[in-house]
Amino acid sequence: MIPPSYVITLSTIMGAVLGSFTTMLVWRLHHDQKRIFWGRSKCPLCKNKLGPLQLVPIFSWLFQKGKCSFCKEKIPMYYPLTELVFILMFFFFSYKFHGTVEFLPVMAIVFFALVLFIYDTKFQEVDRRISIPAIFIALIWAFFREIPFPDLLIGGVVGYLFYAIQYWVSRGRWVGAGDAELGVFMGLVLGWHLLIPAMFFAYILGLLVAVPLLLMGKANGKTPLPMGAFLIPSLLLFFYNGQPILDWYMGLLGLI
Ligand SMILES: [Zn+2]
Repeated sequence: MIPPSYVITLSTIMGAVLGSFTTMLVWRLHHDQKRIFWGRSKCPLCKNKLGPLQLVPIFSWLFQKGKCSFCKEKIPMYYPLTELVFILMFFFFSYKFHGTVEFLPVMAIVFFALVLFIYDTKFQEVDRRISIPAIFIALIWAFFREIPFPDLLIGGVVGYLFYAIQYWVSRGRWVGAGDAELGVFMGLVLGWHLLIPAMFFAYILGLLVAVPLLLMGKANGKTPLPMGAFLIPSLLLFFYNGQPILDWYMGLLGLI
């Protein structure tokens, strides 16, 4: 039996490495680079190849005071922030799920969810090369979970239809084509009874971001807001501990 502290520490370090990897992965996928997994990371600004000391998540950024050690240009906060998000999520999820049979599938789902989140937030798109494997893993795992398979499958169908119908009706103006894929993924992971409050919560998150932007004049009705930026945080929250949140909310409404 491996001590829990080892598992959690290793998972958190793994999160840092995968966060760093993800910034490179989404950049290469978005720019349709042929070599997705091979080739050294480069400075996104001056294209100089980075050495091992420049690749340590967060720390490299801190020690270089947020600047590239070749061109001295400022490295966008996006890079260390992505790594930080991965570190925090891998810590929390490994803390909760270590030692359970669900540990590995949970961490795989968290990884795919975070890649989709970073990609959508950065480039306003859902890449099928990420979303399809994510849906596939969630579907396979659905056969082995405590939550009954039909609940998860109905979740996937509801998640798909909710966004696909909006996409067809609005001809792509309200939601993007890929949002239906996020919907399937979310539904398969959460099951329909957590999917519905999670989608509702994502809309509240979206409003909390959109309303200040509209008021400050930094956005108008046509500014695209990536759905994944709100759906994925909500997915992760409900995946982590959805039932108590749902019970609390139903209690507020006097429904239970
Ligand atoms: Zn540089």
